Amino acid sequence: MSEPIAFVDLQAQRQRLGEGLRRAIDAVLEHGQFIMGPEVNELEGRLGQMSGAPHVISCGSGTDALLLALLAQGVGTGQAVIVPALTFAATAEAPALLGANVVFADVEEDTFNINPQSVEDAVGVAKGAGLTPTAVIAVDLFGQPADYDALETVAQAHNLWILADAAQSFGARYKTRRVGTLGALTATSFFPAKPLGGYGDGGAVFTRDDTLAAALRSLRVHGQGASKYDHVRVGLNARLDTIQAAVLLQKLQIFEEELVQRDVIARRYQEGLSRHVQVPRLRPECTSTWAQYTVRVPDRSRVVSTLAARGVPTAVHYPTPLHQQPAFQSCLRAQPHLPVAEALAQRVLSLPMHPYLRPEVQERIIEGVLVATEGRSL
Ligand SMILES: *Cc1c(COP(=O)(O)O)cnc(C)c1O
Repeated sequence: MSEPIAFVDLQAQRQRLGEGLRRAIDAVLEHGQFIMGPEVNELEGRLGQMSGAPHVISCGSGTDALLLALLAQGVGTGQAVIVPALTFAATAEAPALLGANVVFADVEEDTFNINPQSVEDAVGVAKGAGLTPTAVIAVDLFGQPADYDALETVAQAHNLWILADAAQSFGARYKTRRVGTLGALTATSFFPAKPLGGYGDGGAVFTRDDTLAAALRSLRVHGQGASKYDHVRVGLNARLDTIQAAVLLQKLQIFEEELVQRDVIARRYQEGLSRHVQVPRLRPECTSTWAQYTVRVPDRSRVVSTLAARGVPTAVHYPTPLHQQPAFQSCLRAQPHLPVAEALAQRVLSLPMHPYLRPEVQERIIEGVLVATEGRSL
């Protein structure tokens, strides 16, 4: 069998980054400010420049970022937070942990993102249950921003605020705006396999609002007030490690080029596959970070096993929609069934995707998919 293929090749990236990475980590070992060292501030500044968000508050993970954003807005008991059913568990976990009621909405078949009409239905369900709908968490699934203009319209009509879960989409654009400025608050993740990933956990919250930014900075350090042992709110320990900030600063230097490379690779998949399987649709007003390249196939187990036999790893994002997970059985739903999320969970398949996927390796992957689908046309 030919050489195995990586689903996400972090070693190729590490080789490219070279000695600078080691020097950046060594510098932290030397100065010894492992918590809130100078690299943390520098990283926040760079992320702000890149996204156009006036305030960036780094934190311990993408899940912390979601929690901090909801805490800063005072989300809790009696409130309903609307969440897409097809996403990673953290999106629903954060509001649920704070005592809010999660209402799951359905997603769109071709972009995988939350369906604004289903959000409208979810508002009605929440009100019918005697809850106050307060927020919608728009997930930019697989790297493409959700339909923010349509979501804004629904949000304004019902007095909701939007939290953008940009764990997979930092670096993408929506019309003239960049991710980080699309919701009232934006949460992202620096988990190693995300498009911008550290060598451990990390995350950040973005906002334009000065008051929210001050609350977030306080919440990240035990609700700190004017001095270290002054606590003005109940907060968390949710800081980003200085070493992770140092690593991320190095990775940021090549991030824009990596995004271009991801686009080239997505295009090659599109050209090789679009006549045989359903490829993702990128809206004309969006760019994607291509955190995942996810196709829809009728007979998934056959494609998975054919590719596995050829040394091609695949993944399923996500095999069970959250409203069907045991942990979220008590949550409400916009409709009794969320048919699109349920059908997608049966058919989606993510292929290897990273900026260092060489053309000949990608050819092998495409060929495997064609063999599995017997080269049938759609
Ligand atoms: C990865 C991810 C998160 C959580 O990020 P962590 O850094 O792993 O806590 C949240 N939402 C989505 C959509 C994700 O993909």
